[in-house]
Amino acid sequence: MISNILVLGGGSAGFVAAITLKRKLPHLDIRVIRSPEIGIIGVGEGTTPNFGRHFFEYLALPPKDFFDIARPTWKAGIRFLWGERETFPYAFDTAYGTRFADLPRNNGFYCHDEIRDMSPMSAGIARKRVFSRDSNGRIVFTLSEYAFHIENVNLVSYLETLARQLGVTVTDHTVERADTNGETITALHTTGGETVTADLYIDASGFGSCLLGRALGEPFIDFTDTLFCDRAVIGPRDRLPDEIINPYTMAETMDHGWCWQIDHEHHINRGYVYSSRFVSDEDAEAEFRRKNPLVGKTRIVNFRTGRYRRSWVGNVVAVGNSSGFVEPLEATALMLLCTECQTLADGLIDSVCAPGPELIALYNRFMGSRWDEIRDFLAIHYRFNTRLDTPFWQAARNETRLHGAEEIVAFYRENGPSLLAERIHLSENNQFGIEGYLALMVGMRVPHLKPHTPGPGEIQRLAAHQRRNAQNAESGYTVAEVLAMLRDPRWRWV
Ligand SMILES: Cc1cc2nc3c(=O)[nH]c(=O)nc-3n(C[C@H](O)[C@H](O)[C@H](O)COP(=O)(O)OP(=O)(O)OC[C@H]3O[C@@H](n4cnc5c(N)ncnc54)[C@H](O)[C@@H]3O)c2cc1C
Repeated sequence: MISNILVLGGGSAGFVAAITLKRKLPHLDIRVIRSPEIGIIGVGEGTTPNFGRHFFEYLALPPKDFFDIARPTWKAGIRFLWGERETFPYAFDTAYGTRFADLPRNNGFYCHDEIRDMSPMSAGIARKRVFSRDSNGRIVFTLSEYAFHIENVNLVSYLETLARQLGVTVTDHTVERADTNGETITALHTTGGETVTADLYIDASGFGSCLLGRALGEPFIDFTDTLFCDRAVIGPRDRLPDEIINPYTMAETMDHGWCWQIDHEHHINRGYVYSSRFVSDEDAEAEFRRKNPLVGKTRIVNFRTGRYRRSWVGNVVAVGNSSGFVEPLEATALMLLCTECQTLADGLIDSVCAPGPELIALYNRFMGSRWDEIRDFLAIHYRFNTRLDTPFWQAARNETRLHGAEEIVAFYRENGPSLLAERIHLSENNQFGIEGYLALMVGMRVPHLKPHTPGPGEIQRLAAHQRRNAQNAESGYTVAEVLAMLRDPRWRWV
């Protein structure tokens, strides 16, 4: 019977785990130990909409402190500078994976030549607007349809405040050694001379994976046959005086990888994810600076792509970077972290805090498939990006293994953007849904055998939908306007 839990690590993973467990199982005694010497990773700023759903729906937390302390901006999706089109959006609503009622084919079939305003959010991305107005001109504000951009340090500061409010204990110590007995941790020893024991250990120690990887020696499954990148050079720049805050992440093709742009309220962060097989750190930094002359001091982060075979072993559950890592092309780390924490909390609730081997096996199967699904989705991004002909991109097109995405890609090549693919090739709880796969394949113009040539009536009806989305977006709000609204004393949280 689990009654006390020790969380090793006070980054976003450790605190999200502590908060989730304490909120759902308040009787548990939960302590976070984090190392002031090691600190937190300091990167990881884009979320997906499931972040809001986790905090404001699953955990039913009040939103005010989140906005006051974490200081997020909104993200309606990703604007890709990728493939042969100049740009295409992957918004968080449904642009491609649906059909307008008065048109005979799915939306994706109308996007071959041009992609324009196929959904309210993609029209918002094109016009840098978030949240529309209702018929009375009032903002249609929601907490879980958009994702956020949040500086990692601000997020962790919010999470720590919340964890303490909920009754989680936080201790600053470095764990230098773990005692084990088979697949069980029996004690942790800190540099301060303390010996700590718990019924369950959450390993949230980041890339070090101190308990799962190091102490228990769980094997690591490498993803490099699909994902070649292993470094990122990161640098901020100030926002120019009249520069509008983009309500989206930009993902831009680079010579040896890709570069993100994330807009915070007062500054912009850029980061170039590249492969050391194709470029040195110095040359990657030089390309990054050439294309982003305004960035200040840069730093390089190394990473290893893959996941541990099991993330729950004995009395250790690893979450966040200590359970695995894939590059942030779809900003999936915080998304997966929320899934890990929810699945663990639900598992403890249903097992009345006495989880048995079947539950643990199910957890591992489920989380393993979540990781692999992300790898397979990212594979499509690499395999079909025809924008550049550098050695990196040639290798990406020729060598990237699609793994579990093989079938859906083959189906698309034969049938085009048919929605049937969802019924056949995607599991019910696929994290990206048919919308994600179509956004990428339609967006990159992956060739297929069933192009559709719309008649004049169809074109007119489609244009009416696009006009409506465009008008809606044009009257929407900028990020700065919504931030000002939330900080106005008259604002009432719904
Ligand atoms: C280049 C890059 C870009 C990224 N971008 C995104 C993104 O856009 N979106 C996204 O969701 N994710 C992104 N990520 C992933 C991001 O790192 C995670 O989302 C998350 O913030 C990581 O948190 P963590 O808590 O697992 O690790 P960390 O922040 O590293 O925290 C680890 C904690 O463990 C503690 N610790 C470690 N060892 C010990 C010890 N021996 N004793 C005591 N304490 C210890 C540390 O002090 C720290 O508190 C990115 C990652 C990289 C590398």
